[in-house]
Amino acid sequence: MALLHDLRAIVGEAHVLVDDQDALIGYERDWRKRYRGHSLCVVSPGSAEDVAAVVRRCAAEPGVSIVAQGGNTGLVGGGVPDDSRRQVVLSTKRLRAVRGVDADNQTITVEAGLVLQEVQAAAAEAELLFPLSLAAEGSCTIGGNLATNAGGTQVLRFGNARELCLGLEVVTAQGELWSSLHGLRKDNTGYDLRDLFIGSEGTLGIITAATLRLFPQPRAEVTAWATCRTLADAVALMRRLRAAFDAELVGYEAMNAASLALVERHFSALRVPLPLADAVGAPLWSVLIALASPHDEATLRGDAETALVAATEAGEAVDIVLAANELQARTLWQLREAIPLAQGVEGLNIKHDIGVPLSSLADFVAAADAALEAVVPGARHITFGHLGDGNLHYNLQAPEGDAAADFLAAREHAVNSCVYDAVARFGGTFSAEHGIGRLKRAELAARKPAAAIAMMRAIKTALDPHGLFNPDVLLPD
Ligand SMILES: Cc1cc2nc3c(=O)[nH]c(=O)nc-3n(C[C@H](O)[C@H](O)[C@H](O)COP(=O)(O)OP(=O)(O)OC[C@H]3O[C@@H](n4cnc5c(N)ncnc54)[C@H](O)[C@@H]3O)c2cc1C
Repeated sequence: MALLHDLRAIVGEAHVLVDDQDALIGYERDWRKRYRGHSLCVVSPGSAEDVAAVVRRCAAEPGVSIVAQGGNTGLVGGGVPDDSRRQVVLSTKRLRAVRGVDADNQTITVEAGLVLQEVQAAAAEAELLFPLSLAAEGSCTIGGNLATNAGGTQVLRFGNARELCLGLEVVTAQGELWSSLHGLRKDNTGYDLRDLFIGSEGTLGIITAATLRLFPQPRAEVTAWATCRTLADAVALMRRLRAAFDAELVGYEAMNAASLALVERHFSALRVPLPLADAVGAPLWSVLIALASPHDEATLRGDAETALVAATEAGEAVDIVLAANELQARTLWQLREAIPLAQGVEGLNIKHDIGVPLSSLADFVAAADAALEAVVPGARHITFGHLGDGNLHYNLQAPEGDAAADFLAAREHAVNSCVYDAVARFGGTFSAEHGIGRLKRAELAARKPAAAIAMMRAIKTALDPHGLFNPDVLLPD
């Protein structure tokens, strides 16, 4: 086929994958194993110029479209091809250069395929901090993080990926290379094109590089674990900590008892530091608290102890424990990060990535729990997430003993309607940080105002008039 021949000529024979089924599956099946497509080929360009040449060549081939892929850790199926064998997966895994660190400007410029953990490490080498952090950071790429506007565990202090990005380099659907890698914090010269590409899930252009904000490294860090009787108590505890620490409160995660029980079931090395239930057996919420400060550790630790003891006296917390060292802190984070992995081992489940104003979150969970009991009695509620951002992963696992795949197939639609109706009643969003992908297109069509969809469609048509980039993702048909 002429297209394959030309793509090999652009990127080199070794970087076009066609028939090797064992290698292809890693690109054609998504992380949750919900989507398995078949691509025309997987092509891995080694430079932004090669990405542009690949895009131009694919654009000239009738019926062919391009699916950008970074680490393939996305949770909504946006980075894998459909079944048509007419989609080229464009993997960014060879775009891994650190183009430069500017310590005075507090920025780093990296290529899109650099793994998030490597971006953090490059910043740390310059004694600076890149604060984006999420459980998939060992495999997700910065290009994928920006394309999905990823959140993670420090949004409370530093914002989403969007807030951490000052400029982009993008290959457009016309095969042109557009760059705004200037590192400017102020630039009011018209529409913000950078912000259009962030969160566009590979539908408007291919991100090839980014200039990112860096921060001073904190001198002191304290990690604490607390249990609370109710989610409302956990919200009250957070308000207390916000008042006491302001920007020094960098992360605030909540986990229900069932989610941590699942971790202990599947990862025997991980043990929760405080009981999951109170003396009469009522389940408790656990919260993971991250504090970071430019001041000394003894002061931060002392202030943390004072605030948390006051919270127990006020009844907001049942019990508290502070990590004594970095190893203990790491172990507490592992408990939180292991929840999605434990869910995967337990079997297919129904995931929701909802966001609700913090003031309504506890009422939302109570209302949604009650409504679901009528729809799926006995289903296990695995509720955890970034409480500080009002963002919970409100997930449902099949009732103990039921087949997970059957549960998903039979119940997903009814469960989603019930949860998303409740989200709407509380003024929230059905996708706080994971995006739309293939999974939530119908939801977008049903729940986003028609005027918003019309504007999004107009942007798509203007930038990618022939539907070259990820045509089955994000926007409804
Ligand atoms: C265990 C686990 C924990 C997670 N935790 C969080 C979390 O806390 N917060 C959060 O927000 N997300 C989380 N995620 C999901 C998150 O979206 C991804 O991990 C990450 O942001 C995607 O990066 P990636 O490189 O894997 O992208 P991919 O999965 O490869 O792609 C994701 C989307 O971006 C597009 N894309 C990828 N690269 C580019 C590019 N260079 N240019 C244009 N488009 C591109 C793809 O087409 C696709 O639509 C988690 C995922 C896992 C598996």
